[in-house]
Amino acid sequence: MPSPILPGATLGILGGGQLGRMTAMAARSLGYHIHALDPDSSCAARSVVDRCLAASFDDVDAAADLARGCDVVTLEIEKVSVPALRAAERFAPLRPAPEVLEVVQDRRAQKEWLERGGFPIGPWSPAESADGIAAAARALPGRVFVKASRGGYDGRGQAVIGGPEEADGAWAAVGERPCVVERGLDIEAELSVLVARRPGGQTAVYPPALNHHERQILEWSVLPGPVPPDVASRAMALGRAIADAFPVVGLLVVEIFWLKDGSLLVNELAPRPHNTFHATEVGCLTSQFEQLVRAVCDLPLGSVEVVRPAAIYNLLGDSWLSGTPPAFDAALAIPGVRLHLYGKRVPRPGRKMGHLAAVGSTPEEAVERVKAARDALSGAEIRAADASAALGGSPRSDA
Ligand code: ADP
Ligand code: MG
Repeated sequence: MPSPILPGATLGILGGGQLGRMTAMAARSLGYHIHALDPDSSCAARSVVDRCLAASFDDVDAAADLARGCDVVTLEIEKVSVPALRAAERFAPLRPAPEVLEVVQDRRAQKEWLERGGFPIGPWSPAESADGIAAAARALPGRVFVKASRGGYDGRGQAVIGGPEEADGAWAAVGERPCVVERGLDIEAELSVLVARRPGGQTAVYPPALNHHERQILEWSVLPGPVPPDVASRAMALGRAIADAFPVVGLLVVEIFWLKDGSLLVNELAPRPHNTFHATEVGCLTSQFEQLVRAVCDLPLGSVEVVRPAAIYNLLGDSWLSGTPPAFDAALAIPGVRLHLYGKRVPRPGRKMGHLAAVGSTPEEAVERVKAARDALSGAEIRAADASAALGGSPRSDA
């Protein structure tokens, strides 16, 4: 029987971005020491960890060095090379295992794995050239999403094209690298589910979040997503089945497309904390970050109960670059609103600098408040019409 890794031990985190930072803060509250590895020596996690190794994600020696000083190692980013993961694993349990990352870090491998397991995904095909993209687009009528197989995030390394005649531009946009071509789906709403899983197989599944993206970047998210109970239970069952199939130890987020015909398709997987579950910090008995620590340390999982509906709104670097400094005081004046900044020094367009969170008595109210806070932050007058249009009175109209 493996024994739990108790508070006082040292947790290693591959990656020191905001997800690593928030994991480290939760681990600290539980009494762990934290070591992190990140290529950026001034990464977001740096100021909240005991040791920060500056090394690239394919540095095998640095990964081994990190693990040598730790009792267990987890990660906050997929793009750590498999040899580096295997090197870490020689010195401390790595949760989730390298085999999970090997599948997830390549979109093509991920889709093939999902298909082999019988999990539902949308029509797609792989491509390795502009001609390949054109051929795939001819076979998938209408708008298609072209995504680099490796390395993309927040819509980067992606192109949306109207048909095969735009294949050359898409090939350039994905950096002339192997890619996947997906049919543009008719989406009712985007959901995500979060599964936490311990080494012995015990799981806990959070209710689905409902997520709104703008230009392929998450703009806001609300928990619990106001969706019909059968949609929520199908989404949760799908998440649990995928986590068990790997099996994952730690966290697994499954991004789901809820189509207009009622069916659920897997968009993509993330075996780590996820932007769409930041609301767990204010709305749930156990945040996703604490849950990750509990899962990888083989401690009893915390309750996934949503105590109060909660929503988050991402703050991108654009808000810092507009000339007027963000009016944090105005945003915080709105009842139920909290501010989370990630300590990143350099704002860039599209860079996630922080998020606002708000609770409400309903998911709709939480979204209204967080949108009002976002408006206040950028100095916009809060218009009642905007606030009440937050979810248009219906969970589906704005998604
Ligand atoms: P990322 O790794 O950047 O999150 P995703 O594959 O999740 O990449 O795509 C980002 C967003 O783009 C999705 O959340 C969704 O809003 C939109 N999108 C991606 N693929 C499709 C598709 N096949 N049909 C419709 N919308 C899509
Ligand atoms: Mg995504």
